[in-house]
Amino acid sequence: MRIVCFLAALLALAPAQAAPAKPNIIIILADDIGYGDLGCMGATRVKTPNLDRLAAGGIRFTDGHAASATCTPSRYALLTGEYAWRKKGTNILPGDAALIIEPGRPTLPSVLKSAGYATGVVGKWHLGLGTGNLDWNGELKPGPLEIGFDSAFIMPATGDRVPCVYVEDRHVVGLDPKDPIQVSYAKKVGDEPTGKDNPELLTMKLTKGHDMTLVNGISRIGWMSGGKAARWTDETMADTFTKKAVEFIEKRKDGPFFLYLATHDIHVPRVPHPRFAGKSGCGTRGDVIQQLDASVGDVLAALDRLKLAENTLVVFSSDNGPVLDDGYADGAVKDLNGHAPAGPLRGTKYSLYEAGTRVPFLARWPARIKPGVSDALVCQIDLLASFAALAGRDLAPEAGPDSLNVLPALLGESKEGRDHLVEHAGGQSLRKGPWKLVPKTPRGPAELFDLSRDLGETKSVAAEHPEIVTGMTELLEKLRSQGRSRPAR
Ligand code: CA
Repeated sequence: MRIVCFLAALLALAPAQAAPAKPNIIIILADDIGYGDLGCMGATRVKTPNLDRLAAGGIRFTDGHAASATCTPSRYALLTGEYAWRKKGTNILPGDAALIIEPGRPTLPSVLKSAGYATGVVGKWHLGLGTGNLDWNGELKPGPLEIGFDSAFIMPATGDRVPCVYVEDRHVVGLDPKDPIQVSYAKKVGDEPTGKDNPELLTMKLTKGHDMTLVNGISRIGWMSGGKAARWTDETMADTFTKKAVEFIEKRKDGPFFLYLATHDIHVPRVPHPRFAGKSGCGTRGDVIQQLDASVGDVLAALDRLKLAENTLVVFSSDNGPVLDDGYADGAVKDLNGHAPAGPLRGTKYSLYEAGTRVPFLARWPARIKPGVSDALVCQIDLLASFAALAGRDLAPEAGPDSLNVLPALLGESKEGRDHLVEHAGGQSLRKGPWKLVPKTPRGPAELFDLSRDLGETKSVAAEHPEIVTGMTELLEKLRSQGRSRPAR
């Protein structure tokens, strides 16, 4: 009898159905990948089998967005849940900029950390380090570790900006103290060749800018001297970041963990490892897309090997839309070979048209997500509120002022995403329902597109629908002036 009671008590304690434990979360944020750059998004010439496998195992969004059409503001919005255009100083940063995310404010990593996640960032940072006049030879703080990450292995800014070194946690990796680093964006430092003065030394010619200090035969934006032993090799950068990402997963496999893997691919300078060079049939830009795909494949393989794939939510997206010529003469335009980086969309990186922010957006979590395709409007800015909900954390009213909880849409359990979205590329445009408003500028009148009939934004219908132009102009003004768009409860 006593045994029967004991068993009954045990049964009463057991949940009716075992819910998956908090999933591990990986965000793979590619750089400058366009809406049409992947096989699963319609590309036929460039091959992306690993990303296609990720898409086939999860939800592929057709209307997923970065929050801005360039790197820094897009990444700021992803990590803070705040539209970058609300805050001054969030435009594309030089490599010696101060950190633009205030330590202590709730961020994607800090909220997940508070929910028991081990948090790590690997790859491109481009959100500033320190508080100004940073000494690259000392402790680099505040940085990722001060805004919620437990560990960091980053490039400080971009591949085309100095300093061309990796930073692990708070220090430059491999720095010889006898060869200190100096960095300036105001004037030349040291006596090394520059792209401007020594174009004969360039292994990659320039189309605009990027003519300062030469590192590995490629001149960059900004000047640096010293730190020779610490300088990266462009050809091995993707492998370096992938290796660090896999090491993080291995170290934190007992979970839950949150990994933000921000690849350098496919930003300029595009310098594939020799095993990818010339392989895509679409030039260097196509080669680095295939290199990116291989990096994703290595991360997915690590999840499989460690038996973590089932309960790991992997989100793949891009920080902004595609660009061909971005300063280096790497053949991106002439070698395109019929590939359409933006797919059916109008615009590029830097643009208020759809291709500026509408990007590949994939979410796979085998234990929870049923594979499919979703037309819900979702944005990377929503990951803060959505993952907070997933991890069971309440967001304080002041946290993530523009981050909406779209978790049901991300999990494919609802067709409803956002009601509206402000797109950003210097100015702002507005999405609501089928409509897209590109406000009037000194260069032209307001444009209105019905994306349900005209996805490529080919013909403005503003003249036919003046009341919609007026209503959306007013809504955009309201969203700007009220300082937040997430309801304050
Ligand atoms: Ca970018």
